[in-house]
Amino acid sequence: MIFNKKSTYEQHDNEKGSFYHSSVNPIKSKDILDQDINVDVCVIGGGLTGVSSALNIAKKGYSVALFEARKIGAGASGRNGGHLGVGMRKDQIYLENKLGKIHAKQLWDLGLEAVEETLNLIKDNNIDCALVKGILAAGTFENDYKQFEFEAEYLLKNYNFDAYRILNKDKIQNEINSNIYKSGLLNLRNYHINPLKLLIALTDLAIKEKVKIFENTPILKLEDHKDEILVIAAKHKIKAKKVVVGCNGYLDNLIGKKANSFMPINNYVIATESLGEEKAKDIIRNNYAVHDTRFIIDYYRFSEDWRMIFGGGETFSSQFLKDSKNFVLERMYKVFPQLQDYKVDYSWGGTLAITVNRLPMFGSMMNEKLIYAFGYSGHGLALSILSGKLISEKINGINEKFDAFGKIKHINIPGGNFLRRPIYSSAIFYYKLRDFFNSF
Ligand SMILES: Cc1cc2nc3c(=O)[nH]c(=O)nc-3n(C[C@H](O)[C@H](O)[C@H](O)COP(=O)(O)OP(=O)(O)OC[C@H]3O[C@@H](n4cnc5c(N)ncnc54)[C@H](O)[C@@H]3O)c2cc1C
Repeated sequence: MIFNKKSTYEQHDNEKGSFYHSSVNPIKSKDILDQDINVDVCVIGGGLTGVSSALNIAKKGYSVALFEARKIGAGASGRNGGHLGVGMRKDQIYLENKLGKIHAKQLWDLGLEAVEETLNLIKDNNIDCALVKGILAAGTFENDYKQFEFEAEYLLKNYNFDAYRILNKDKIQNEINSNIYKSGLLNLRNYHINPLKLLIALTDLAIKEKVKIFENTPILKLEDHKDEILVIAAKHKIKAKKVVVGCNGYLDNLIGKKANSFMPINNYVIATESLGEEKAKDIIRNNYAVHDTRFIIDYYRFSEDWRMIFGGGETFSSQFLKDSKNFVLERMYKVFPQLQDYKVDYSWGGTLAITVNRLPMFGSMMNEKLIYAFGYSGHGLALSILSGKLISEKINGINEKFDAFGKIKHINIPGGNFLRRPIYSSAIFYYKLRDFFNSF
């Protein structure tokens, strides 16, 4: 039997467009691959991992060409919730138990560095990406308050982290105009942004550093030759001393079975029409970004022009939902019934890469000529920007920070290409049920 599966990046072809895509200008590059070329470094993937890698590597004096199957930001980096958070997808206690205190502390520091690095890029280059301070975890369950207290105390005591503020029921309901939350934990070292505005600005910076950007140029195959990798596109070939792969949830089989170490999951977002500042602040008083505490979270915030950007709901099949707007709307109305008066202007979805332990997977292949970073598990906005910096350091022979991620052990999701999705969906069903029963 022949399975003719489409590439994951093709699933967005024919979509109507997202709020983010309507908020940016095209990148300033007209590069077209009309001949074979040689470069020091070939970067595959035009999301934050790829663009940040290209920018950092070019700054170190290497010649760089970046290949994106569609447009810059076509993947998760141009579709996400815009929550720019410190830490990893898993909390420090999990990391300490799993990896030991020293390694956990190393990852904590890198999580802080990821946000610092992003803030510095924004400030130093005067990037307008609608940066706002504060992400609030809104407690869906009664026992979240105790958990929040414990986490804030633990991080203060063990990590000297003093940016948490705990909100009781009155305070959270004063902050968010919804009666479903029971407590809250505000993190003042977190931010929210328009992620595509940042990505396009970083791409323009990379172009200034002479990075060649080839959009609409999927890479089909990679061949390991002794001192170089032959990178094969539809009509031409690229000889590169190093290759960086930053394809995350859209990776498919480009680097063989590595894709079995994560589950590509589709997550969905809507943007309403603008509510105006006054009404928006009646809904989220201090304009924080918010996520809840369920296993499959709701996450939301207001855009720079006061649209509610609301994300939530996941599917595990290789097909995107046809009616993702109503899928997300149903979740949004449970939190904010008052938003039924507002029109939805945009709805879209994106694919993320979830690893079994929810930690990113960094590594190398082909005798260190090929470097990859993926599997941010829905917490990749800051980490993908950091990964580009760490990959450029690795190319220059400085491995310490890259290896802090590289030494994390990952296991494959069983089932190979065809059974991975059903196996994973049945495991997730258990957690959905748990959320349902816990919410009473
Ligand atoms: C709906 C959604 C909401 C999210 N919300 C948040 C959030 O609020 N906060 C947070 O921290 N994280 C969030 N994430 C996760 C975050 O967006 C990702 O971790 C991050 O953007 C990954 O960046 P990346 O560059 O590695 O991958 P991507 O941005 O997905 O880029 C990969 C690129 O590779 C390209 N590609 C694939 N194959 C090829 C090929 N063969 N040749 C050339 N190009 C190829 C694709 O077209 C794609 O553009 C969210 C993700 C989704 C989908």
